[in-house]
Amino acid sequence: DSKRRQRNGFQSFSPELASRQHERLQTETQLRRALDKGEFHLVYQPQVDLRTGRILYAEALVRWRNPQLGEMRPDRFIELAETTGDIVRIGQWVLQEACAQMRRWREQDLPIQRVAVNVSYRQFGADDFGQGVQRVLHEAGLPGHALELELTERVLVDDAADSLAVFDALRRLGVQLSIDDFGEGYSALNYLRRLPIHALKLSQTFIKGVPGKPSDVAICQAVAGIAGSLGLGLVAEGIETEAQRDFLIRLGVKVGQGFLFAPGLLPGEFAKRVIAQQD
Ligand code: C2E
Ligand code: MG
Ligand code: MG
Ligand code: MG
Repeated sequence: DSKRRQRNGFQSFSPELASRQHERLQTETQLRRALDKGEFHLVYQPQVDLRTGRILYAEALVRWRNPQLGEMRPDRFIELAETTGDIVRIGQWVLQEACAQMRRWREQDLPIQRVAVNVSYRQFGADDFGQGVQRVLHEAGLPGHALELELTERVLVDDAADSLAVFDALRRLGVQLSIDDFGEGYSALNYLRRLPIHALKLSQTFIKGVPGKPSDVAICQAVAGIAGSLGLGLVAEGIETEAQRDFLIRLGVKVGQGFLFAPGLLPGEFAKRVIAQQD
């Protein structure tokens, strides 16, 4: 695969192009059927108290296992699903599944305060997204504050009246809203004043370089400053080393996630870890 990617520098080499187009078409075909075939499942990455390592929340991450294509990471199919529109149905399934799981954890008395779900701009812009969320919460018997929706900056720069109505509906439900990969996207900061956002998720692309790389340190400090002065929560993602964690703690960041703590876990494993930290 890496050999192939190197050769991809020659975009005009047509057998390469043809094979990539074939691959894409195959993925597209399989993706269309994947939901009905039950090929998706969710893993949950712990969001922890950085000082104690205690699990506070969960982020649901979708996984796709296909007999022909094998294990596909979201980076290899979410964009495609956005292009084809399949993301709307897939995203709705993710939301239902994550809320149903959250309900089961609550019934087991596990102290997981909420589950975060990633939402594509296509989903957010689809008909009645707010109503859809309300219905899912109702069916799962969950209060709005048990759900967090992670939006990308792409959703937020869209000023359409429709999306303002969606934000309003979500606010009334008490659903928490955070901005994923903050700083990677459009950085139109004015939406932070207008929209009911609760937290920023500091992109892992900046965490990578701390504490060694001055420009990444500066960006982390700036984002922490924005969150602090606007009264927003801040979650750091992609924490892989103790040095990164310690830097973030010094910066005043309280919550984070990353391989240093845990990758995405199957629900049973997630529950086990939460139970283990109770005694
Ligand atoms: P994200 O929402 O920013 O999620 C974080 C990604 O970073 C996840 O990759 C996670 O497994 C990975 N990660 C977590 N900790 C670390 C770490 O310490 N180091 C490194 N290098 N990576 C870490 P994943 O699961 O492959 O998801 C990639 C992206 O795909 C997500 O980024 C999100 O944008 C999207 N995605 C995942 N699930 C869904 C979904 O259900 N719906 C939508 N619309 N997008 C999703
Ligand atoms: Mg996310
Ligand atoms: Mg992210
Ligand atoms: Mg990302």
